[in-house]
Amino acid sequence: MMPGIESGTALRNVMLTLQVLRTDYVTHDVKRFILKKPPGFTFVPGQSGNFSIHAPGWEDKIRPFSFTNLPEDKHIELMIKIYRNKNGVTRELERTNAGSELILHSVFGTIEYKQRGVFIAAGSGITPFLSIFRNLFKKGKIHHNQLIYSNKTLKDVIQAEELKRMLGKNFIETFTRENVIGFIDRRIDRDFLIEHISNYKQHFYVCGPENFVNDLVAMLKDLGASTEFIIF
Ligand SMILES: Cc1cc2nc3c(=O)[nH]c(=O)nc-3n(C[C@H](O)[C@H](O)[C@H](O)COP(=O)(O)OP(=O)(O)OC[C@H]3O[C@@H](n4cnc5c(N)ncnc54)[C@H](O)[C@@H]3O)c2cc1C
Repeated sequence: MMPGIESGTALRNVMLTLQVLRTDYVTHDVKRFILKKPPGFTFVPGQSGNFSIHAPGWEDKIRPFSFTNLPEDKHIELMIKIYRNKNGVTRELERTNAGSELILHSVFGTIEYKQRGVFIAAGSGITPFLSIFRNLFKKGKIHHNQLIYSNKTLKDVIQAEELKRMLGKNFIETFTRENVIGFIDRRIDRDFLIEHISNYKQHFYVCGPENFVNDLVAMLKDLGASTEFIIF
């Protein structure tokens, strides 16, 4: 373990240059990066890193991305949604491939697994949960955790097959913009939560766009979830 890591929520400054080993697409606009892992580097599942691109003009444009791999894996994995219509970091990442480098400025934790509960994600908000689920699955401890995963359409779902394999019937998909036979086609509202969650005295893990998180946290509290049991 690298010196300096204290807990799941500590910010750890690292400043590492990581080589991109390979890239591919996991959906039409989510690109996976496999990075060379420096010896001894580790993190807690659910943690993220502050990254920039090691290229002129991009080094100081720092953006957060979650580690999707397991701490003990040989490489670091990121899954990054590319915003093609904005001249931002993710659009530049579309042009960043094997042989390029990223700079990891710090590691920090927002979402840390405490106990079994309900995970609620929208779009690329699934990324910190992927590392948590992979870790629980590997240890045989994923049972009784539930995932509600909202996406615009079927083609936006990240790692659907893997999530199904790990979570089985506890993986609930919902779509906001398409009629998909056999799937729920609606936004996650209060009624949706009542239909799918019977116990509000458990942990809730919420990740996605700010509005989504704010709405969900308010609804969960309204339905009886305790503030200290909601992790977002
Ligand atoms: C702790 C944390 C962990 C994160 N982990 C991940 C991760 O693992 N993978 C991942 O993909 N993202 C992750 N994000 C989000 C990611 O950091 C942002 O998407 C990224 O910073 C965007 O950088 P940018 O320079 O390309 O765009 P910016 O110029 O910084 O702006 C992009 C933002 O503009 C908005 N936007 C842009 N285009 C559109 C559009 N067409 N429609 C609607 N909104 C639009 C989006 O809200 C988007 O976040 C994480 C965020 C946080 C806070």
